[in-house]
Amino acid sequence: MRVVDLIRRKRQGLELTRDEIAALVAAYTKNEIPDYQMSALLMAILWQKLSRAELAALTEAMLHSGEILDFSDLPAKKVDKHSTGGVGDKTSLILAPIVASCGLYVPMISGRGLGHSGGTLDKLESIPGFNVNLSLPEFRRVLAASHCGLIGQTAEIAPADKKLYALRDVTGTVESPFLICASIMSKKLAEGIDGLVLDVKTGSGAFMKKKEDAVFLAELMVETGKRMGKRMVALITDMDQPLGRMVGNALEIEECIEVLKGGGAEDLGELSLQLSAWMLFIGERANDVAAGYQLAQEAISSGHALEKLREIIQLQGGDADVIDDPKRLPQAKHKLEFTAAQSGFIASIDTERVGTASVVLGGGREKKEDTVDPAVGLVLYKKLGDEVSTGEPICTVHYNSDARLEEAIGLLRAAYHIAPIASELPRTLIHQIIDS
Ligand code: URA
Repeated sequence: MRVVDLIRRKRQGLELTRDEIAALVAAYTKNEIPDYQMSALLMAILWQKLSRAELAALTEAMLHSGEILDFSDLPAKKVDKHSTGGVGDKTSLILAPIVASCGLYVPMISGRGLGHSGGTLDKLESIPGFNVNLSLPEFRRVLAASHCGLIGQTAEIAPADKKLYALRDVTGTVESPFLICASIMSKKLAEGIDGLVLDVKTGSGAFMKKKEDAVFLAELMVETGKRMGKRMVALITDMDQPLGRMVGNALEIEECIEVLKGGGAEDLGELSLQLSAWMLFIGERANDVAAGYQLAQEAISSGHALEKLREIIQLQGGDADVIDDPKRLPQAKHKLEFTAAQSGFIASIDTERVGTASVVLGGGREKKEDTVDPAVGLVLYKKLGDEVSTGEPICTVHYNSDARLEEAIGLLRAAYHIAPIASELPRTLIHQIIDS
């Protein structure tokens, strides 16, 4: 195989064979192909796209570059959920205990915050003592005991993706839906799951701002998973405003606990129940989605899901008393109310700016090496369509340092658009369902 020939062929829009793709990924993982050649090939893929056969071959090659976990000895189906990322998107920490308490296994390998969007690992690490760096044998032990394990990507899982993602990040090739699909699916399929629910976000706080782009990516991922024998479904969900009422790592854990206690914001609770319902359905714990929804509701009303979260936190070394006393979570030293400059109705929210406001307060990373401040963030009071009067709080900013407070306030000021007349348009939480 001459890599330059593959680059030329892809550049011309010709198809690569399964064997060529497998050899290429294996050689790149072993550092036998230089980054400059792989960069050229990635750019050719970005422009020329991949056929469905090439996409399947790439995903499989990336999946097989590392270990594929095998939990087939555990006596129930294994399911997971993946979200493409958003602001205030904390459903994983609600649905994982719900679904685990209903008897399925949830082996969840999550990521850190990316850009303006939050990450499950950063949220979990705001719980004092919580260890997301379990070895694979420890992960298996926790999963077998509690039906759920929550860790970060290890060196053993899809190492080709680790190398390729870092290269894409600095060569302007992240945005290809084919490369995104192969990247996400290679990691998720390595979890040894039977089924996967995808939450593909669209709107002002999503990476895919346009719905048609979200649908295209969702269809690619559903088809790729299905080809590999997995039960798949994708929900295209709204990210035109933050999900729930809290943005920031410890604040979001507090909100998850609230929902598991039967309270919390309506949109967050509803989306968590819907995603849980689909997980319970594809994991064959419920005969249909409606039955899954009912099971998920019962898991909350009985308190079983909350107790499951307590068990997971304990098993992973965290302070489970945060469940009874969320004030044990890290708290910011200062609070400031961000108020409406005029009266009217919340007409639109640039949700990416809201997420970025939390990042500049220290809640996310601007450089890979940055550490995250678990306590900072925003508590939001106003949703799209809500009425506000001049001087009324839109949110409370929780912060520890005022170094970039002004910048965060500027972002919020630019994010919230207040109009004199209320919009008649109904809000939709789930835009579309793509079922395999
Ligand atoms: N998340 C991933 O894991 N991979 C991508 O390519 C994009 C988002």
